[in-house]
Order: sequence, then C-alpha cells, then structure tokens
Amino acid sequence: MSTVTPVTVAPQAITLDQEINPWEAQSARFDFAARKLDLDEGLWKLLRSPSRELIVHFPVPMDDGRIELFTGFRVQHSIARGPCKGGIRYSPEVTLEEVRALASWMTWKCAVVNIPFGGAKGGVICDPKKMSQGEIERMTRRYTSEISDFIGPEKDVPAPDMNTNEQTMAWIMDTYSMHARRTVTSVVTGKPLNVGGSRGRIEATGRGVMVACDESLRYVGKPIEGCRVIIQGFGNVGSNAARLMMEHGYTIVGIAEMEGGLYNSAGIDVHQLIEYKYRNNSVLGFPGADPSPADELLITDCDILIPAATENVITSRNAEKIKARIIVEGANGPTTAVADEILSEKRVFIVPDILANAGGVTASYFEWVQDRQGYFWKEAVVNEQLETILRDSFDDVVRYAEAHNVNNRIAAYMLAIDRVAFTIRQRGIYA
Ligand code: GLU
Repeated sequence: MSTVTPVTVAPQAITLDQEINPWEAQSARFDFAARKLDLDEGLWKLLRSPSRELIVHFPVPMDDGRIELFTGFRVQHSIARGPCKGGIRYSPEVTLEEVRALASWMTWKCAVVNIPFGGAKGGVICDPKKMSQGEIERMTRRYTSEISDFIGPEKDVPAPDMNTNEQTMAWIMDTYSMHARRTVTSVVTGKPLNVGGSRGRIEATGRGVMVACDESLRYVGKPIEGCRVIIQGFGNVGSNAARLMMEHGYTIVGIAEMEGGLYNSAGIDVHQLIEYKYRNNSVLGFPGADPSPADELLITDCDILIPAATENVITSRNAEKIKARIIVEGANGPTTAVADEILSEKRVFIVPDILANAGGVTASYFEWVQDRQGYFWKEAVVNEQLETILRDSFDDVVRYAEAHNVNNRIAAYMLAIDRVAFTIRQRGIYA
C-alpha cells in the first residue's frame, strides 16, 4: 500500500465554509502536487486558473405564462490536450466557484486516464424537481443557444452531470444542430443511442467505480467474496455501481440517499431496489432492508465506502469515525482536503474521484470518437476498452504513489499535472 502524505491544510486553521469550498479543495490538492513536482511558476499560475468563464442570464417562458430569468455558467479550464470536456449540472446550489473547481477536476481527470481532452464544466441555477418537463426543455434549449459559440465538437463537448441526463443531451444536440443547419451529434456526449449515443455510456461511471473497487482489493490483497460495500447516492453512478458490483459478487450492505438510507447485513437485492425506486421515486420504505439514517451509514462498519452523490460528504466532522478501509470516490469532490488528512492518518486506501469516476468521461470519449467516425461499437467493445483504460490508469496512479512516496490522490494530481504541463511545454506558449 502507498505511504501517506498530508495535504497542507491544517484543520484548525480553516473554517468549515472554507473546508467545503470546492475551489479551495481543488486548489489545496493542486498546490500540493505542483510543489511536489517542482512545477515552473508560470505553468503553476496558468494551470491553477481557468482559461475562460462564461456567465449567461437568460429568459425562459414558464408554464403559467411568467418569464423566469435563469443564470448559467460554462467554464473552460484547459484546451492544452484537446477540446474541453465536462458535464452540465442543474441545481439550485450551483455557483461559479463550484463550476470552476469542477472544470479543473475535468482537466486532471482526462489527463489521469490519458484521453485527449481538456476540462470544462457547466451549470444552471435551477431546481429541476420543481419544473415541468416542458420548462426544463425550454431552459435547456435557451441555455444551449446562449453558450453555442463556446461549445462544439472540436472546442468544448458537454455531457450529463447532476440532474441532467440523456434527454437533456438530446435537446442540446438538437438545438446546436438547428443553429448549425445540420446534425452535429459529436457536440455533446451521453446522448440516447439512436441520436449518436454510445452503448455502455449510461452505466460507464458505475462500471468504472466497480473496476476501481476490484483493483483496490487486488492491491490490498483481499477477495471480492464477503466484501461489504456501502454506497452513498443511488442516482446514475450509485445505482449502476451497486447493480454491477452485486452481480460481480460484492455484498451491498447499505445505500444512503439524501432523504434516508437502508441497511441489510446480508446484502440488499439491488435489482429489486432499482425497481422499487423507479416505482416509488425513493428508496425509503423498501421492504428488503432496514431503514438507517444516511449520516450513520457513512460511518457504519464496511469494507468499501463509495460516496457517489455530491461534494463534501466526508469532512472533518465525520472522517475520524469512518470505518471503511477503502474509499472509492464515485462523486466529484466528496472528500474535503482536511478529511483527506484525517483519513491518511487512519491509513484508509482512497481511490480519488479523478480516477474512480473517470469511467463516464472515458466512455464519453468513445462516444465522441464513434460520432466522428459514424461507426458504432458493440457494447462488449466499449466495456472492454473502458476496463482496460481504467485498470491501466489505476496501475499508473498506485505505481506513481509508490515511486514518489505520496498518497493516491496526490499521485493522481501529480501524474495529471505533469502530463498537461508536458504538453504545454511541447506546444510552447503562443505570444
Ligand atoms: N459529468 C461526468 C464527470 O464529471 C462526465 C463528463 C463527461 O463525460 O464529459 O466526469
């Protein structure tokens, strides 16, 4: 197992607000890794900041006849290694700072798995749970038209993220195509199959999480049989990871959702739970497990904990109490830098987000390639290529961690920053 390296943030020196600020979280890790790499000061400044940030305020006619004004963002962090790539999220909590952090994370994520993209992220401040399908469609189309000069198959390729899905991507593709007066499928990934989507894309992030779990167990010398897993979040990432992992022999003992959780020491039947959630729109009341508070599940005894929902679930408030020996980050930024330090001291083996959830963007890369070729692969080919890239990347990160005597997260950052910096040096600075 790799040795641990504390991140530079002293818990007592920062407030909880600072601790959970995603930009601070990204920067703390970036600075630490850049220092370790002895990165040139100019490149440090360049890579620490986003390249372009677009803020749009736009009107949408609502069902009741009102006109609502929405605010959206698209942040492009780097185009050094290829077009920008990254999802679009819809949430009342989206901020420019959060999108900025997520855009940088996408640059590092694409570099860790060595796919030819830079990073971007988008978001619209809205509450899709309180909007009709028609309102969401009109908002999506208008947001797309507002950012349409910014995006494009060779510029910046959006994808699904929190509260956006295949349908959202189909609307983005259609809107962009209507402006272009031709069908441009490769402008966005995560689309439905019949409009240029890729087989295997929907479950790709969950599949990648499973690969990260398999590889972690192999690395620490433990079997899959009897491995107890708790997953926080039962959306696209969490539910697909849970299903694939159960089918692969893991025992899913706990599922935590925002509104509450479930626990069954003998294992939850994930197929039945998916069916139950589909019918009831919630996991609560599922007869195949006992109810358990979501916060409790994070600190319940298990072998692997998978935070697969949102940022800042593992913080200085609960890190000390975590019992899992392995954490695989299905979400982006679920562990704060302060919590990292605590977990490092406890010698918890962490597969960081930029590696653990990179299955999604890797399958997005395959989708973009297929769209541009106009030739679509069989699902087995997608899955096999995906697994190969993720296993190789896992290996790269743990070997890098061993060689540089740092933890996996810092190793992943160092590897990624080094790759991007190398490309920039080779391209030179245009002036
Ligand atoms: N939103 C996903 C992520 O955070 C996927 C991004 C993509 O496929 O471009 O990795």
